[in-house]
Amino acid sequence: MSVAPVTVARVTDLSLSELVTGTVVAPGDDDWDSARRFHSGIGEPTMVVRASSVDDVRGALRYAAAERLDVMVRGGGHSAWGAVPGGLTLDLGALDDIRIDGDVVHVGGGVTWGAVAHELSQHGLGVSSGDTASVGVGGLTLGGGIGWMVRAWGLAADQLVGAQLVTARGDVLEVSDDSHADLMWALRGGGGNFGVVTRFDFRAHELRAVVFATLAVTGDARPVLAAVRDTLRDAPRELTVTYMDVPAMDPNAPAGASITACWIGDDEDAARAALAPLLALEGVTETELAVRSYPDILMEMPAADPDQPMPGFVGGNTLLRELSDDAIARLVGFREANAASVLFLRSLGGAFGEVAQESTAFPARNATWFAMAGAFDVPGLVHDGNRPLIQAEWDAIEGLGEALYGNFTPSTDPGLVSRMYTPETMARLAAIKREWDPQNLFCRNHNVVPA
Ligand SMILES: Cc1cc2nc3c(=O)[nH]c(=O)nc-3n(C[C@H](O)[C@H](O)[C@H](O)COP(=O)(O)OP(=O)(O)OC[C@H]3O[C@@H](n4cnc5c(N)ncnc54)[C@H](O)[C@@H]3O)c2cc1C
Repeated sequence: MSVAPVTVARVTDLSLSELVTGTVVAPGDDDWDSARRFHSGIGEPTMVVRASSVDDVRGALRYAAAERLDVMVRGGGHSAWGAVPGGLTLDLGALDDIRIDGDVVHVGGGVTWGAVAHELSQHGLGVSSGDTASVGVGGLTLGGGIGWMVRAWGLAADQLVGAQLVTARGDVLEVSDDSHADLMWALRGGGGNFGVVTRFDFRAHELRAVVFATLAVTGDARPVLAAVRDTLRDAPRELTVTYMDVPAMDPNAPAGASITACWIGDDEDAARAALAPLLALEGVTETELAVRSYPDILMEMPAADPDQPMPGFVGGNTLLRELSDDAIARLVGFREANAASVLFLRSLGGAFGEVAQESTAFPARNATWFAMAGAFDVPGLVHDGNRPLIQAEWDAIEGLGEALYGNFTPSTDPGLVSRMYTPETMARLAAIKREWDPQNLFCRNHNVVPA
């Protein structure tokens, strides 16, 4: 491997190693390959700083600002931003404290959801999170965070009651609804644009266990999805369902459609009663229904093999106000027309929809369903000629929705951010960005450019 020389930069006569006590890893160092690894690949940053304290974060930001290096903040490392070359990757993995104080849990900026769920379950508690254990609390929460508790308790961001934030200027702020309320608003859905969160404070809920069920779906999915939609309209908020139709991924994961349901609480009879209308549908068969611990239902998703990077995805996602018959027909039609495609739907509403639109930066509180579909861009399955057609087909479906959900948009295309927020929200985010990060140091994200 050819090794690029690292410039020993000076910031007010201090080198980076004098500014941080954590490890600085540069090309040529023994652990360079592991340091620049993120979940879906291997990046080419200029350097990686593994922060071991809040002061390290301040030192790294000071250095990056002086050297005009973009900062890529790495929480759980699941986003696509790690693939953008250059810049300083600020790895927060060592900020991994989890502390429970009554019904508030304080979580370090580099913690993953699996660790939070595990710790909280020891205390009979839970926080609304995503579905995968290794995803970072940082990226998921700052972008919103949709998971099994979204109807019961709202987004992960809706549980956020405070944060410790290191700003681009290196100030350490305690942020809450009572202190820097503008920043607090922006942290709930505005992404990693406003600083480095070194500690998240979440309000936790009582949770002993959940009821988890999988139902196989065969035959025409259209009437099934219409019935699922109608059932969820009046269902208790403890119930959240997803629908997934996938092609064969490998010999252990055959093609097929399924509904996965999660009931927040351990009352199996109540869960069964809520699911009864779905279990009575033609083409729907129960494959599993059991009381499980919450950490136990979080998926494990191994990091991609760098020699076999994940295929691209031609498609997208949207937050739908209504899962109309037309939307169902188009979504199922998209899946049927593209052999290597996946269709994923998730019910919203409940607590998610009761949060006032203007009280957080997250878009489309009126959405009742989230939809994501796309074809895996595998040579031989998706050809150059049909890629634009598939994308156009998806874009027409996206036009039915209210907004794009940034966290499930693994593209680094800067043009997408305007589809994630209303113009009013965008203007408010841009004004807050101008105040707190006028240099746009934090640009490795769905970037809000300072107004
Ligand atoms: C396998 C998989 C499963 C997923 N499941 C879900 C799901 O169930 N629900 C859902 O809503 N989303 C889900 N996502 C999407 C996920 O929310 C986003 O990819 C998110 O950005 C990942 O956060 P991260 O911290 O792991 O990623 P990173 O790449 O580390 O961070 C992403 C961005 O967040 C910002 N950031 C991260 N930590 C901090 C911090 N402490 N301070 C400031 N900025 C920070 C930075 O801007 C960074 O560019 C999933 C993604 C994958 C790959």
